Amino acid sequence: MDISTLCIHGAEDHTHCTGSITVPIYQAATFVHPGVGESTGYDYSRLQNPTREQVEKIVAKLENGADALAFSTGMAAVTALMELFKIGDHLIVSDDLYGGTHRLFHHISMKNGISFSFVDTSDSSEVIKHIKKETKAIYIETPTNPMMQVTDIAAISKIAKENNLLLIVDNTFLTPYFQNPIQLGADIVIHSGTKYLSGHNDTLSGFLVTRTEELSEKLRFIHKTTGAGLSPFDSWLMIRGIKTLAIRMEKQQENAILLANWLSNHPKVQSVYYVGLPTHPGYEISKKQARGFGSMISFKVDTEETAVQLLSKVKLVLYAESLGGVETLITYPMLQTHADVPKEEREAKGIDERLLRISVGIENINDLIVDLGQALG
Ligand SMILES: *Cc1c(COP(=O)(O)O)cnc(C)c1O
Repeated sequence: MDISTLCIHGAEDHTHCTGSITVPIYQAATFVHPGVGESTGYDYSRLQNPTREQVEKIVAKLENGADALAFSTGMAAVTALMELFKIGDHLIVSDDLYGGTHRLFHHISMKNGISFSFVDTSDSSEVIKHIKKETKAIYIETPTNPMMQVTDIAAISKIAKENNLLLIVDNTFLTPYFQNPIQLGADIVIHSGTKYLSGHNDTLSGFLVTRTEELSEKLRFIHKTTGAGLSPFDSWLMIRGIKTLAIRMEKQQENAILLANWLSNHPKVQSVYYVGLPTHPGYEISKKQARGFGSMISFKVDTEETAVQLLSKVKLVLYAESLGGVETLITYPMLQTHADVPKEEREAKGIDERLLRISVGIENINDLIVDLGQALG
């Protein structure tokens, strides 16, 4: 079945008792036992809830995983994932990470005795160089946020397998609609469901998708024990959001390609980082491993004044954090998503006072261009 159809029909048949087209919201904390020592399969909603179970089934199918676990946020998912590791373990991670993940690794995981090598994972030799006997996993984001670096997932998976390491891929930016890391050799896929999967900037959620049942069992234990499962209502909103994933991803990408080209030709724009531009260093790998380029664009303007002016003059385009929704959002990574990354490290990555990031929505492209045009001046 095509992925666009799975997005709509990926839940199990739930129409048998009432004919309801939609999955019901089981707003229940606990469930009655039919007899002594018996269970309906649901005992207490921290362990499992029927509505959450349905969104998990859909996401597992979309990513071709053995299982998917739904969390209250993307960061709750990454936090639970880190419970797979213990004092002394070492991870190799992308050096251009989502700001919240960077903060978690630096301020919480390190305190818990886990060490990290932050490397440019788009260069396989850098990854190999940092493997040591304590290394347990490679953690990548591709494309990265906000610099849009692309890592060859299959190449890194080969290194991971040869060295008996887990490969973990944050697939938030491309979603299963455009990229399936498990098929390329990943063991665990992460999503901030808050972004494209939800698509409407109205729900926070996170997912871990596993390649094997064995990993699923370990993570299910952590999930039920630490307790950050997605609520029934938010699970329902996610099921609803995912139904339109295909059509949104296509339209957002179509707009992004047009906008990236328009920005590239604007006199006040100096560079455009969009993986769908043939000049982008990750263009060929993207074509090989993904079915699309997504709709995240970063760009550098000529001066800090232009950046500040743009952010204060946009009207239709909203100056707000987050990404992936139907509304086009613009952010200033230096002050928002990456504010916690030390200045030197940030600037070495190119995240400076001239860098802006746009998450392109589904508005009419001409309206977006008119708004950005007046704001850039
Ligand atoms: C937003 C985001 C996260 C964190 O997800 P939340 O739902 O905000 O907790 C993790 N990774 C990436 C790439 C993200 O964009």
